[in-house]
Amino acid sequence: MMDRSFDLHDVVEMKKPHPCGANEWKIIRMGMDIRIKCQGCQHSVLIPRKKFEKRVKKVLKKAD
Ligand SMILES: [Zn+2]
Repeated sequence: MMDRSFDLHDVVEMKKPHPCGANEWKIIRMGMDIRIKCQGCQHSVLIPRKKFEKRVKKVLKKAD
């Protein structure tokens, strides 16, 4: 079972990779919406929390 707990600055993997080919995203804002930043091309996207929870695959790196 995947780890559903995530926090600000964690790096996560999504079910679908970014078109740039990378699949590592850093959580840079948490709230009703979650902003994640692609670690490959630094593009950031804002996703409603519910959608994010459906699309996230796993947490790769926990923030310290
Ligand atoms: Zn990208």
